[in-house]
Amino acid sequence: MQLELNVRLADGYRSPSQRARRITEGWFEEHMYCAACTSDRLDRTRGSTQVVDFLCPSCGAEYQVKAKAGALGPRLRDAAYAPMMARAQANRSPHFAFLAYDSGAWQVRGLLLVPGHFITPDVIERCRPLSPTARRAGWVGCNILVHRIPPDGRLAVVQGDRVASPKQVRSGWGVFADLARAKAEARGWTIDVLRCVRALGGREFTLKDFYAVFEQELAAQHPNNRNVQPKIRQQLQVLRNRGIVRFLGGGRYVAE
Ligand SMILES: [Zn+2]
Repeated sequence: MQLELNVRLADGYRSPSQRARRITEGWFEEHMYCAACTSDRLDRTRGSTQVVDFLCPSCGAEYQVKAKAGALGPRLRDAAYAPMMARAQANRSPHFAFLAYDSGAWQVRGLLLVPGHFITPDVIERCRPLSPTARRAGWVGCNILVHRIPPDGRLAVVQGDRVASPKQVRSGWGVFADLARAKAEARGWTIDVLRCVRALGGREFTLKDFYAVFEQELAAQHPNNRNVQPKIRQQLQVLRNRGIVRFLGGGRYVAE
């Protein structure tokens, strides 16, 4: 995977945003593969949908590419809020590819994949409507709150000069790939408890510790569930079965 961007792709385009889009999407089309299966190419959707830019010809995985100059921050600008939220609520979010590039050297500096099954409604932040004087007055966009997604759902394909192998990326993707078929409620619980486990940063913990730090937060995220503690225990087992959490005995746990 070479990291140089081909600026010739923007020949004939004037607007800086259109030029950047042509160049970055051209790079993605040429170099990116499907992380959800073994397909070595992705096809462009030719602007037929607001939410999807690329499609895997083999497994049908849908990708949205968001490119920005400079570094990727903790919250990343997406497109229109309403169609994205509708997709996330229906468990049909596309996968995201966040691409960061150096607009001086025209080089890719970062490519972060976030599988769609990690996009829960609470990581989509509604932006303020554009002002009445804007060209698209009233239009409402959204941000993806990347910092709220557990690290397991943020797969670095490119980080500076380092490029992960397709095998590494696909293997990281595979650990939680079946969440794509889980019901929204179950998927939300697994992701939320995973986020809490990761926030402990590999320290040993007991159930009591876990409840003390996270029970209130999880209860607020799942207002319809009154049995938060049993749910936490169930999800720790789910994470153990995936090899994420180890039960040490004596009520002690640790993340792998
Ligand atoms: Zn695929």
